[in-house]
Amino acid sequence: MLDLIVRNASFADGRRGFDVGVQAGRIAAVEPHLQADAGQTIDAGGLLLTPPFVDSHFHMDATLSVGLPRRNRSGTLLEGIALWGELKPHLTQEAIVERALAYCDWAVARGLLAIRSHVDVCDPRLLAVDALLEVKKTVAPYIDLQLVAFPQDGVYRSPGAMDLLKEALRRGVDVVGGIPHFERTMEDGRASVRALCEIAAAQGLLVDMHCDETDDPLSRHVETLAAETVRLGLQGRVVGSHLTSMHSMDNYHVSKLIPLMAEADLGAIANPFANMVLMGRHDTYPKRRGMTRVPELMAAGLTVALGQDSTMDPWYGLGSGDMLDVAHMAVHVAQMTGLDDMAACFAAVTDNAARLMHLEGYGLAPGCRADMVLLEAHDPVEAIRLRATRLKVIRRGKVIAETPMQRPSLALPGRRGDVSFLWVPAKP
Ligand SMILES: [Zn+2]
Repeated sequence: MLDLIVRNASFADGRRGFDVGVQAGRIAAVEPHLQADAGQTIDAGGLLLTPPFVDSHFHMDATLSVGLPRRNRSGTLLEGIALWGELKPHLTQEAIVERALAYCDWAVARGLLAIRSHVDVCDPRLLAVDALLEVKKTVAPYIDLQLVAFPQDGVYRSPGAMDLLKEALRRGVDVVGGIPHFERTMEDGRASVRALCEIAAAQGLLVDMHCDETDDPLSRHVETLAAETVRLGLQGRVVGSHLTSMHSMDNYHVSKLIPLMAEADLGAIANPFANMVLMGRHDTYPKRRGMTRVPELMAAGLTVALGQDSTMDPWYGLGSGDMLDVAHMAVHVAQMTGLDDMAACFAAVTDNAARLMHLEGYGLAPGCRADMVLLEAHDPVEAIRLRATRLKVIRRGKVIAETPMQRPSLALPGRRGDVSFLWVPAKP
């Protein structure tokens, strides 16, 4: 007797008509026509069952603070950082916790059950650190929240930041962050990458740096990040977030750089919404796209994920925790409209992001954690096209969120009374 069976599901890899059996919070069986009884049965009706969405790049300490103390008038990254600096002294732990928990409610409703959030450590009170450590504990039953010690104002540029970063790690923050392009000089940036990677190596931690989030083609800290990863034996444990300068780099240089990144097994995270609105701001026309070279990095065998970065904060005033929205934007920005490309963008907000976060038991194979989302779509492409409704969100074998199918009603003579956006392409 199983706890739960989801019957007649399709998977992102193209398999159809599979049943998934769950026992004690783990997936016990995945096969067609599973011969077993269960306490609860869900008929997937041939729709797509996927492991949960994963946001590998977010800032939960700033989320939902849009308008505090004022709006970002220029819309630039630097005004966003300045604005956050204005807000920081006025933050309270309670307000950060309250906003973060409200966002986590949205995340669950969107089937987003794992989030890597950077947390700003450039505050002598470490208020955001303590707030998000509390949130991490509170949401643990329904969201895997991983925290990155992020020195927003520069680990060398901001007085005391290195000690604060180390203290944040001592308090339980999981991952070492950085922001080399924001240090005062290229040399300081390089030194920061080296020092931060050494801390991670010494403490057995993962690394995820904001790296080269600029349009300056000469911002090449990703080179140092890859080299330090190899020097310290951190292959597969280091991520470069943003990497937007790669968009503007000379192609010859990139032809040397990407193999170096592959050698280091560096992860890459692009954040299409933030990149599109924050980058290229000094351009007139033509105006550059501000996203790193996603298809080229994927083709070189790197693990590439897509993150949300911001939702309703000083840097980006929109968003609602929908990782299909992020994949949808990436498809357009990177011109990844081929079928395999679109499937790759779906993987970038699910499997790839889970791999970069080193999530345990992620997936739909026997033995994995029984975390899954039933979407109102037949396949990943349809899911992206529709930003499909999350019909059921399941955590450890229990349904924790539900949304009814989208069926707008029509009043048109001679036509059906309701409409579905699902569409199986017709044969000629
Ligand atoms: Zn970020």
